[in-house]
Amino acid sequence: MSKTASIQQNTAHRLIGVHLSTTGGVANAVRRASAIGANTLQIFSSSPRMWRASKIAAEQSSATRAAREELGVGPLVVHTSYLVNLCSQSQDIREKSVQAFRGEIERALALGAEYLVVHPGSYRGMTRQQGLQLATESIQQAIAGLPWQQTLFHILIENTAGAEHSLGGSFEQVAELIEHLRPHAPVAACLDTCHTHVSGYDIVSETGWAETMAQIERTIGCENVRVWHCNDAKAVCGSKLDRHEHIGEGKIGLDPFRRLLREPQFALAAFIAETPVDAPGDEERNVLALKNMLA
Ligand SMILES: [Zn+2]
Ligand SMILES: [Zn+2]
Repeated sequence: MSKTASIQQNTAHRLIGVHLSTTGGVANAVRRASAIGANTLQIFSSSPRMWRASKIAAEQSSATRAAREELGVGPLVVHTSYLVNLCSQSQDIREKSVQAFRGEIERALALGAEYLVVHPGSYRGMTRQQGLQLATESIQQAIAGLPWQQTLFHILIENTAGAEHSLGGSFEQVAELIEHLRPHAPVAACLDTCHTHVSGYDIVSETGWAETMAQIERTIGCENVRVWHCNDAKAVCGSKLDRHEHIGEGKIGLDPFRRLLREPQFALAAFIAETPVDAPGDEERNVLALKNMLA
């Protein structure tokens, strides 16, 4: 096989998408994804800033499955509400969070989503070990008795920007949580390029990239990274400031995204932009920027 042909084969089937609004229903978001050239997408299944959430109606569930089938869009990734804190020191917040997270899992299953992304939470007021224990227990409680076994469904633990008291600010912490949960729930990882960069990993220099990839392999394991959130960063490496920027326009720049999209060990991962929407067309523009990394 010629060199060009083998590169084409390696990169032909990348899953590339973007976080989209579900205005008009989830099936509508699936159609929009396809219309802007994406073959995967992420959504919120309810308002990310409200505790109350409605159930997924049967028609919404079947319309979503039908649209995905027709257009070949998948995986469907659901991002958990920002209010959920599974390792809060407040028992009240924790109980609300377990309830809300159970609702997230139920809605993801109803929609036929493959992945539910969650930030492990903030353990302010406790030790990291206590936080880890609480997050593990909360996730176990939330999924208990739900019918996930016959599906491809996985809960993805996302790495965070590394703010003080936030669980998941390093690959080790994500790996540790996955290890604790694995006997009880289907779990894997979601890594975010912006969070990785601002939490202090060098993904910009070529040697830094290689070292960071080696660290992912040693801790989480590359095959466990099912989703990459592809976001450029407004802030510098190590700043712990979580501000997403358009692909190629921030402190990360284009080269790391080119490397990421071409890494053979992530050939089966979904690459999803959570970039700002400053102007109409920005979602499509960022999807195209990611697709261009393969050209
Ligand atoms: Zn993210
Ligand atoms: Zn972020």
